[in-house]
Amino acid sequence: MAEQGRKKVVIVGGGFGGLYTAKALAGKDVEVVLIDKKNHHTFQPLLYQVATTVLSPGQIATPLRRILSGATNVEVLLDEVTGIDVAARKVQLKQGFDVAYDFLVVAAGARHSYFGHDEWEEFAPGLKTVEDATNIRRRLLLAFELAEREAFLHEGDKPLNFAVIGGGPTGVEIAGAVADIARRAVSNDFKTIDTRKARVMLFEGSPRVLAMYPEELSKKAQEQLEQLGVEVHTNSHVTMVEKDRIQVHDEWVPVRAVVWATGVAASPLSRLLGVTVDRAGRVPVEPDMSLAGHPEVFVIGDMSTLKDTAGVPVPGLGAAAMQQGTLTGANIAADLAGSPRKPFTYHDKGSMATIGRNRAVAMFGKWRLTGFAAWLLWALVHVYLLIGFRNRFSVMREWMWSYFTGERSAWLITGDCD
Ligand SMILES: Cc1cc2nc3c(=O)[nH]c(=O)nc-3n(C[C@H](O)[C@H](O)[C@H](O)COP(=O)(O)OP(=O)(O)OC[C@H]3O[C@@H](n4cnc5c(N)ncnc54)[C@H](O)[C@@H]3O)c2cc1C
Repeated sequence: MAEQGRKKVVIVGGGFGGLYTAKALAGKDVEVVLIDKKNHHTFQPLLYQVATTVLSPGQIATPLRRILSGATNVEVLLDEVTGIDVAARKVQLKQGFDVAYDFLVVAAGARHSYFGHDEWEEFAPGLKTVEDATNIRRRLLLAFELAEREAFLHEGDKPLNFAVIGGGPTGVEIAGAVADIARRAVSNDFKTIDTRKARVMLFEGSPRVLAMYPEELSKKAQEQLEQLGVEVHTNSHVTMVEKDRIQVHDEWVPVRAVVWATGVAASPLSRLLGVTVDRAGRVPVEPDMSLAGHPEVFVIGDMSTLKDTAGVPVPGLGAAAMQQGTLTGANIAADLAGSPRKPFTYHDKGSMATIGRNRAVAMFGKWRLTGFAAWLLWALVHVYLLIGFRNRFSVMREWMWSYFTGERSAWLITGDCD
């Protein structure tokens, strides 16, 4: 129940940015309403493990209501925000209601961009939500099952080809994991096909994978992918995606499953804020992440674009969104206390990408790590960052089981087969 005279903070989105804003305002003398169209917070860095059958959705997604149950001044509403009226200071919900605010924090994230070819999404889904992960899992598993059925029934000999489009961290992680499934995890489970002969192809338009990392780490990542049997095609733009085939360098490549792992398109809510957005739809914000001319509105995380106090462009990473959420909560509290706001400074705690079992690359400032040491560190950091002891414990248990036995616990195709 709202207390009379208390200021009201509306947060749109319970991802890393929105959740950390809510946490920073927990227990403060404000009424907070967090609105999300999902009932859960998703730990996106481990989504690919759901897509590749290692983990189940419940291990990486936690109900927002449960995370914030101890924050008595924070209400969680399940609804989609469809409109924002910055002049009237209210947001519109899909269910038809308006919610007024004194402060608004917009943290609705981003999705993949298909560079003007949204029709490709049907054949090459991206990975952003739990639903995306289970959809990709279904497509990957069906590819194996249908290949087995076709081979057994002599229905044809379509090759068992997988394509991952985009050589950033997500593309590299998925390609490595799919190769690991085919070469190791299920190679004994199929009696007619030899899954070890599956082709896993990674297509990257630029000259190297993990282009945001130093060149030596890109090289290591490519080597590690190739050791796993992934075909890495750099300087290779995919120019067409259709059912069961993609076009690269004017050649059609037959594929049974495709994953899209490139391009960023900010939430369409960014276009309702009355400012000019960049090509990816991101909102340029002031140093404190507020909207120009509207100090009561903040846009944070993947939806915004900003150079921090050191002049460094803030990356679209969970770590940055968390830090922005925490600072936004603190700046709102500062406003209420009559204290000055602080500008945002990104604290880069390092980056890592894993490439299948025992392989990863990591960098922390000038430090570089590759191979098993990087992989172990990646695993420890991700378990530590997961929300909730139960999830940490169950993910650790699942990883150890899968590490020592090679088995995948979530080899489930939900729905009827095609
Ligand atoms: C597969 C993958 C792997 C990644 N790996 C890493 C990694 O290893 N390390 C790292 O630092 N970062 C990683 N990232 C990036 C990181 O997850 C994002 O930068 C971060 O989630 C951005 O946080 P955000 O709060 O801006 O948006 P999000 O976390 O995307 O949250 C947006 C929230 O808004 C909600 N929402 C959207 N529209 C509406 C609406 N209209 N109404 C109501 N609610 C709405 C969504 O349901 C969602 O809960 C990864 C991302 C992906 C997709």
